[in-house]
Amino acid sequence: CGIVGYAGPRDSVEVLLGGLRRLEYRGYDSAGVAVIGDDGALTTHKRAGKLGVLERDLDRSPLPASRTGIGHTRWATHGGPTDGNAHPHLGDDGRLALIHNGIIENFAALKDELLADGYAFQSETDTEVAAVLLGREYGRTKDLLAAFRAVVGRLHGAFTLLAVHADEPGLVVGARRNSPLVVGLGEGEQFLGSDVAAFVQYTRRAVAIGQDQIVAIRPDGIALTTFDGEPVEGEEYEVAWDA
Ligand code: GLU
Repeated sequence: CGIVGYAGPRDSVEVLLGGLRRLEYRGYDSAGVAVIGDDGALTTHKRAGKLGVLERDLDRSPLPASRTGIGHTRWATHGGPTDGNAHPHLGDDGRLALIHNGIIENFAALKDELLADGYAFQSETDTEVAAVLLGREYGRTKDLLAAFRAVVGRLHGAFTLLAVHADEPGLVVGARRNSPLVVGLGEGEQFLGSDVAAFVQYTRRAVAIGQDQIVAIRPDGIALTTFDGEPVEGEEYEVAWDA
């Protein structure tokens, strides 16, 4: 029910957990984060329950230092609120993580296709199908943005999706259909949120992602396209916010 993404020089876990805190008002049953560590590894941690459960775990065993990451609070629709069903979900190489708000309506057909192709699933969610599909596509393209574009074009329903791959540190890709996604523009850092509350403490410069658009954020800027890869001019606005 809440989505945060970050690429920049800050400690990404701190940005992600802070953003998820400010999205808590939307309600959720589980929370998780995935970061690309400075050591080049993808690390995730996710827990059913309140954000405090996740935070206590991360206090006890901190994730590696990282500057790129994604964070999620879940409102379960497919699969109960368990640690395993919490997001992020991984691609089969274990180096790719994906989070999702919404419902992928054609997940059952896609899951059958992937099972027939020999892929296995760790959760009961509709979301994991998108993660595994992205992993398969990444194996073919070795290009996160290209793989992501191929995947979102196959999904029906409502989704805000974010993904990262350990081989492409500094990059977070996002897409939206029938579900919100906003970019926060910074100096040498960029943010993504399902709502401006996710990043408004860092920047008030925002770009709302349009229906059926894909965004790539890197510390030095953003690139916006349609699902087909046609460039789109994002419209910047100033967030009015009394916090
Ligand atoms: N349909 C997904 C799930 O059940 C995402 C739910 C959400 O919007 O948080 O895991």
